[in-house]
Amino acid sequence: MTHIFPTYQQFPMELVSGHDWYLVDQAGHDYLDFTSGIGVCSFGYSNDQIQTNVVAQLGKVWHTSNLYPSQLQDQVADLLAPQGMLAFFCNSGTEANEAAFKLARKYTGKAKILAFKNGFHGRTFGSMSLTGNPAIQTGFTPLVPGVEFAPYNETAALDQINDELAAVILEVIQGEGGVIPADVDWLQAVAKKCHDQGVLLIIDEVQTGIGRTGTKFAYQQFNVEPDIITCAKALGNGLPIGAMLGKKELAVAFGPGSHGTTFGGNKIALAAAKGVLQQLTPAFLKTVQAKSHTLLAALNKQVADLPIVTQITGLGFMIGIHLTPSVKVAHVIAHLQQQRLLTLSAEHNTLRLLPPLVMSESDLLAGVQLIQTELQQQAASVDSLVN
Ligand SMILES: *Cc1c(COP(=O)(O)O)cnc(C)c1O
Repeated sequence: MTHIFPTYQQFPMELVSGHDWYLVDQAGHDYLDFTSGIGVCSFGYSNDQIQTNVVAQLGKVWHTSNLYPSQLQDQVADLLAPQGMLAFFCNSGTEANEAAFKLARKYTGKAKILAFKNGFHGRTFGSMSLTGNPAIQTGFTPLVPGVEFAPYNETAALDQINDELAAVILEVIQGEGGVIPADVDWLQAVAKKCHDQGVLLIIDEVQTGIGRTGTKFAYQQFNVEPDIITCAKALGNGLPIGAMLGKKELAVAFGPGSHGTTFGGNKIALAAAKGVLQQLTPAFLKTVQAKSHTLLAALNKQVADLPIVTQITGLGFMIGIHLTPSVKVAHVIAHLQQQRLLTLSAEHNTLRLLPPLVMSESDLLAGVQLIQTELQQQAASVDSLVN
């Protein structure tokens, strides 16, 4: 890739096509996909409904700008947003968080925002400034002022929530940070303190949303109520689309001219999102929950007790296998690739699994078997080094 900025350390093979929940490289090898393109292609690579919607829209019109109303945007917003919320469509997760950051400041008239250590919200200046990982911020200062950080899952964080804040932003499961779920009691206490202090609660569902954890949004399993939700990744099954959802009363701060986007809400991406959301029914989510229980049970039985595994975390189809420092997750990923299984990493030497939600139970279990074998071999070679 001599013409491309080297911002990514890339794997050796290009994936040139896909089917079901498999990807195919230039040499024609099939790979079982436990990544979904980083939590994006939740309906896999041969979904009729999404394909049909996109192809039909391709034959009509691709883009009209947001100067004209769009029935499709209204339909997708209706399918996506919880009762009493409105949508702003954009093209990515970071843009959804930028919109949330701007809306929170404008609506409250306050500047400060509290984010969490080890969190991830994106790479543009606003969302990078909200990202609690110094490695991602290095070299880019000065960052957006007014951002403070609190420790995730720690009671001390509650002391940092006061009426000087415009908003608190968090992930209910820190994804890039190592698949770390919030403690339910802690998250409820954070939400309550926000409510009591008049601070907006922004929940970043970019990775956890759109069924990834077995419910449409992950926060639904924590019994908290956000004022603003951001989503992206799986919303278009691979076409670029993000959305910021917010309570109706926030609309006074987002009138004409306040915020905008050329491409956001474009008709091709929206056609894909409509196909995704039409299929994200309660019945479908039940199948995801059932399969995720099977997946987690298999991991607990076959992988959790291996000597190089410290713990398994996550919810639904979002799982972190935490490895001891004696093995490098990058090596595990490379070996699994040779076994034709694609996996991801996350912070703190975590093997991250984000399989498409449509994957069959038998292929989920086949993936677990490959992971077990690989981690057993890694454990054995660590053992032989030690002895
Ligand atoms: C991926 C991610 C983002 C950034 O999304 P982009 O589409 O890459 O800008 C933001 N928040 C969370 C939680 C994410 O996982």
